[in-house]
Amino acid sequence: MSASDRPLRARVHLDAILHNYRFAKGFAPASRALAVVKANAYGHGSVAVARALASEADGFAVACLDEALELRDSGIQARILLLEGVFSPDEIVQVDRAGLTMVVHCREQLGWLLAARPERPLACWIKVDSGMHRVGFAPEAFAEIHAALSGCGHVGEVGAISHFARADELGHPYSERQIAAFDRALGGLPVMSSLANSAAVLSLSRAHRDWTRPGIMLYGISPFVDPHPSAGELRPAMTLESGIISVRTLQAGDPVGYGGRFVCDRPMRVGVAAIGYADGYPRHAPDGTPVLVDGRPTRLVGRVSMDMITLDLTGMDDVGLGAPVQLWGDRVPAAEVARLCGTIAYELFTGIGRRVPLVHEGA
Ligand SMILES: *Cc1c(COP(=O)(O)O)cnc(C)c1O
Repeated sequence: MSASDRPLRARVHLDAILHNYRFAKGFAPASRALAVVKANAYGHGSVAVARALASEADGFAVACLDEALELRDSGIQARILLLEGVFSPDEIVQVDRAGLTMVVHCREQLGWLLAARPERPLACWIKVDSGMHRVGFAPEAFAEIHAALSGCGHVGEVGAISHFARADELGHPYSERQIAAFDRALGGLPVMSSLANSAAVLSLSRAHRDWTRPGIMLYGISPFVDPHPSAGELRPAMTLESGIISVRTLQAGDPVGYGGRFVCDRPMRVGVAAIGYADGYPRHAPDGTPVLVDGRPTRLVGRVSMDMITLDLTGMDDVGLGAPVQLWGDRVPAAEVARLCGTIAYELFTGIGRRVPLVHEGA
């Protein structure tokens, strides 16, 4: 795979992603599910992930044209939705050629679509701003936009899509308000619709509709901060692992790494693992962040460097050079590392550096 013998790699368990996709489908059995593989499948490798799901997935969703064309070029024939639509009228030519489905979220895009001269009818999903207030048409505008697209000779399918702002907060009333706003916008028109991200797949069955859009749950991470019964059924898809490249014994009072953030409070064995913030391990990780060394839980001590981190190996006298280190995966929850760093697993996964080889296994 890689020319380097640096022990760092992200192992991606494709069988876990397939399991998680089936799990998402099981929660919304009457709906079809677009596997969200934007941002290189949340850092997991979009081509490998899409191929692993190809025989079962109803379709895929990505953020932009390049991401969609990469999937088409690798042989993916299922529906691919562009979650933000096109960024220029020129992109419509390629959307047409590749047979993609587009979100339409603003009047500029609408104008480009109506003026396009595609070879095949375009598939357009109207983005309704049901309360996220980021992109999309006001609910009151839906009927007009729908009429414009439906009446256009070169537009085929017209759908409706919206996105939740707070579905990860279980039972939050804002999600109900968004569902109500969406339904009001549609006004009973029989349009194909899509509302549910992972959190809504698992907790808002009223939002399942025709197409769900599970993302983070495919990668084995619960979308909820609070415990949820489904969390235990999801299988973590990524194991980020490296190895110990140096070990030393330090004395009480010795500082470790940049800024001497950590100071040994007793004689300690401190190991260095080959991973740093340039690889996507968060520089904000505090002392005490969990890691697994040689299968045993221990902790980060000292600031994360660009290429290295320092770990407490005190009492692990048999652990030496080459010992395996798990940064996150089945034994170290990525969500817990993320929480300690003031972020979410989404950001950790998408921040994996270019020099980390992705090693795909299973499926
Ligand atoms: C990223 C994204 C999703 C997936 O969200 P998860 O929380 O990862 O399940 C769904 N819909 C839209 C519009 C998105 O941008």
